[in-house]
Amino acid sequence: MRIKNRKVLVVGLAKSGVAAANFLLKKGAHVTITDLKSCQELQKEIGQLEGKVRLALGGHTEADFLNADLIVISPGVPTRLSELKHAVARGIPILSEVELAYPFLDGKIIGITGSNGKTTTTALIGEIFKNAGRDAVVAGNIGTPLIQFAEAAPAVSDRVYVVELSSFQLENVRKFKCDIALLLNVTPDHLDRYVSFEDYALAKERIFMNQTRRDYAVLNVDNSLSLSMAEGRKSQVVLFSRRQRLSEGIYVDDRSIYIRWKDQHHHLMPVKDIRLQGGHNLENVLAATAAGFLSGVELGVMAETFRKFAGVEHRLEFTRRVDGVDYYNDSKGTNVDSATQGIQALDQRLILIMGGKDKGGDFTVLRSLVGKKAKLLILIGAATEKIFAALGQEVETVRAKDMKEAVELARSRAVPGDAVLLEPGCASFDMFQNYEHRGRVFKEIVHALPGE
Ligand code: ADP
Repeated sequence: MRIKNRKVLVVGLAKSGVAAANFLLKKGAHVTITDLKSCQELQKEIGQLEGKVRLALGGHTEADFLNADLIVISPGVPTRLSELKHAVARGIPILSEVELAYPFLDGKIIGITGSNGKTTTTALIGEIFKNAGRDAVVAGNIGTPLIQFAEAAPAVSDRVYVVELSSFQLENVRKFKCDIALLLNVTPDHLDRYVSFEDYALAKERIFMNQTRRDYAVLNVDNSLSLSMAEGRKSQVVLFSRRQRLSEGIYVDDRSIYIRWKDQHHHLMPVKDIRLQGGHNLENVLAATAAGFLSGVELGVMAETFRKFAGVEHRLEFTRRVDGVDYYNDSKGTNVDSATQGIQALDQRLILIMGGKDKGGDFTVLRSLVGKKAKLLILIGAATEKIFAALGQEVETVRAKDMKEAVELARSRAVPGDAVLLEPGCASFDMFQNYEHRGRVFKEIVHALPGE
């Protein structure tokens, strides 16, 4: 890919936009950056730029798009932007940051996508490789943009890139190819951004688009949409299931994990020895097993990793036990499906704190589960009335003005043996900067509670 002396427009100046711009500068491009946010709002990001760029901030100008030789877009930027459509019509190539990075990377790529579980599975696979003593880096949505590794990529390497991929990043994939691609599940999410659920599912399927016979597509038998994508694959399909014994694949039988692949058959470990809680995390473990196994990692190293890995912050994170009541932070549970998984994962009687900025999900599907497991539902944020209408009949439901009031209400009603679970089912932007901020606020309040 020729970059030197070409006019490149970077759309969106968040973390990956900064990384892409810096990479392009090093490669000798003439970089323009555009963002809806103003110069003032982007002070921090501007300070991280490592060379001279032209800034076109506080809105987009169509001429900037049409004058570019190449456009690189950040994951947060909607592709249906009219300026982008006009650029496409002129034949100007539009790349996501992973696509830009791809030609500059040697080694193997393991890509992870799905509606839920991406970060957990990506971190888990990274940990497996680390424990196996392999040269592996974890990249993508999880933290460091992939393009940041492209700059310093070893020329010939046995490095493994473990990359978390959102549907937004996959939308603009052209040549990017994963040696092992994992699709954990497809359930409704981001319906506020996609025209339809089909569009969203199609974006996820693009993870397999460029794979060949030598590559692997890892799919979840227990999620019908993930499984449906087994058809028409050029790559080798590897299935996993926590509910069914499989004639080939990674599965749970008699409460143990098994691997059956070609002429191999292995017992990996009993499910009870896995440190992560919940059926959803078991699916993440099975997917990670596939990635490790197909990359030749020793089974003992994988089992040991699963025994030790405690999860990622804000994902069903045990926060504290106060007077016999357990507090859990699942602030990353930002859609209805992840909320379902979080609620199912805990065995205790629950006091749920839900709400936030609605992403267009249908909360009525939680009715029977919430009715069965929760004794009190506390609602905060913009989606309060919508959730109230969906679930208020099933369980005693109250409104709280903020997180502090919600936690205090929960504490006043909890008895030993209960669990208080922050399980928003919504985005956080109505009250917080992001889900991390929401989770931290929850944890601070919980840690400040009086009691043993
Ligand atoms: P992502 O990166 O896809 O958002 P995370 O690993 O950050 O996924 O987990 C987000 C939330 O989704 C967690 O808080 C948990 O409630 C839920 N979750 C995790 N793994 C799964 C899964 N395999 N299936 C469904 N829900 C899951």
